[in-house]
Amino acid sequence: MSKPVYAILSDIHANLEGLTAVLEDAHNNGATNFVCLGDIVGYNANPVECVEIVRSLNCATVCGNHDHYCLLDEELKGFHPIAADAIGWTRRLLSDDDKAYLASLNFVERVENFTIVHSTLDTPQMWGYVFENLEAEASFNYQVTELCFFGHTHVPMAFEKSGDVNGGPFTALKLKLGKKYFVNPGSIGQPRDGDPRASYALFSLETKEVELRRVPYDFQTAQSKIRKAGLPEHLANRLALGR
Ligand code: ZN
Repeated sequence: MSKPVYAILSDIHANLEGLTAVLEDAHNNGATNFVCLGDIVGYNANPVECVEIVRSLNCATVCGNHDHYCLLDEELKGFHPIAADAIGWTRRLLSDDDKAYLASLNFVERVENFTIVHSTLDTPQMWGYVFENLEAEASFNYQVTELCFFGHTHVPMAFEKSGDVNGGPFTALKLKLGKKYFVNPGSIGQPRDGDPRASYALFSLETKEVELRRVPYDFQTAQSKIRKAGLPEHLANRLALGR
């Protein structure tokens, strides 16, 4: 039996059209297993459907900041007002059962021989962003597996540590012995690197290769649902721009 191929899903953000297109692409490209790096909800208009789908995948999933804040009735301190609007709206929609599921998610999970986290390994509950080598370095200090996948920035990037840390945008990489990797597959539901296509990654345990995949999807439908729900217009506009 050949080794599994993992589809690495992140920052779905209640975008049903994006998630559906990615799952189809993953199935067509040999994915046998899934993991989810958090932020299943927030921003887009189908939080309930997206939570149901992720739950049905029965896969290792970590908690994102949007998932976390959708559970709490506390004030949304530190959130941009537009993000806070969407979180308030999502809170009213989710069932107690879905909230219990989100509440059960850990910040960090180990899957086979790799790790998954939403933000950083050094302080996962602080929701820091990793864009720079120095930020990746802090996380590497807590990384015990050769490979860790992270999300949160919505920008696909890969960092490699072998003494120094070097990182940047990537489309494919092959793990080399003795090095460590901290890899962001980008966002399914709200890409922010200027490419509006949904972003995710495939990781083959057999070849030790990570492939970034971009999937066109029907963002016009996602946009019209956002407008119909009365969510902020900006959230609809940005889907067309990938910003
Ligand atoms: Zn996010």
